Amino acid sequence: MATSNQLKRVDFIFRNENDWEKILSSTLQRKPQDLINELISSELKGRGGAGFPTGLKWKLTAESKEKEKYVICNADEGEPGTFKDREILSRVPYKVLTAMAICGYITGAKRGFIYLRGEYKFLLPELNKVIDEFDYYCQETNLDFKISIFMGSGAYICGEETALMESMEGKRGEPRNKPPFPTQAGFMGKPTVINNVETLVHTFTIFKYGAKKFYDLGVQYSRGTKLFSVSGDTPKPGIYELELGMSLQDFVYEFGDGDTKAVQVGGASGFLVPRKKFKDAAIGFKGKLTGISLPTGGSMMLFNSSRSMFNVLDNYLEFFREESCGQCTPCRVGCQQLLLGIKAVKRGEKPASYLDKLLRLNETMQYTAKCGLGQSVANSFSSIVENFREEMIY
Ligand code: SF4
Repeated sequence: MATSNQLKRVDFIFRNENDWEKILSSTLQRKPQDLINELISSELKGRGGAGFPTGLKWKLTAESKEKEKYVICNADEGEPGTFKDREILSRVPYKVLTAMAICGYITGAKRGFIYLRGEYKFLLPELNKVIDEFDYYCQETNLDFKISIFMGSGAYICGEETALMESMEGKRGEPRNKPPFPTQAGFMGKPTVINNVETLVHTFTIFKYGAKKFYDLGVQYSRGTKLFSVSGDTPKPGIYELELGMSLQDFVYEFGDGDTKAVQVGGASGFLVPRKKFKDAAIGFKGKLTGISLPTGGSMMLFNSSRSMFNVLDNYLEFFREESCGQCTPCRVGCQQLLLGIKAVKRGEKPASYLDKLLRLNETMQYTAKCGLGQSVANSFSSIVENFREEMIY
């Protein structure tokens, strides 16, 4: 177990700043190109999972000659173990709205939407109040930008950006083929910036404090801070803003219960890291170990030795089977077969070697599934089966 503690806690996101009007009006005095350059130099990457450079996304949308454009805040937070966007929207919603309006100014979009997870309906009254206040400010200052909320209906797949747009257009929530990307043809076929809630709040920090302040935190390829939802076998569950680049060993030293045998980094679609690899794993977009990255929204689930990794995997696969949209065969059939397969091995109806066949199926899904859901089942499946094989066998 680590004896050091390199974790740096930071407090930008939840810092209660009531100067959003000042930040908004001073930012809107600057040229869009300057703001894009500032965002690019911060090296902010999307905090929703894919890690696409935010400045580049805004730049591509700004460059489009189309007149109609949109800004969407993706608040469809559905990854198991992730609950930080809910906190942002509860505690600092005006930062999200300010960031959306700045994005609209830079890109030329006049409409913004918050796509809110169906299960977060309880946030609506407060959010609508803040949006009304913001609307009033826009009218008073002649700022041509209007934000409204679109309610999701509880489908995990609608957190995928193109499925989200399909759902907003009144269609079945299924991922689209890419390209074209949303910056070219997004909502209603128009150029669209879609950012996760947390990403937008980081842009607020950058425009308020400057790109350098953000860039100086974190490590190469993983600049700035990140919110982590910490849950599982920990005496300190909750949400923490930490500097990127920390070692998993230090994380476990801080948040573990002294008996941590594994950490699931990035929710059910992320990687399960066993104790023997804590020392070599760094948390960021490019860690020291292949695959240790932030494929989702910063969920960190700790498991101690009382947990059965078979049960954990069984749970994940039940979830994926339920949430697969069924559009493509590798995912629709693959999730079901993986689930039936591990149960059969556990019951002794299939030999242990059957796990190798399942790993091959898993690999096939990674390469052939249409979207991130089907592709990322492989992350937790292979990391659990490879590291805790003995727990899969009767
Ligand atoms: Fe739907 Fe799964 Fe295919 Fe994605 S990978 S399109 S969720 S069936």
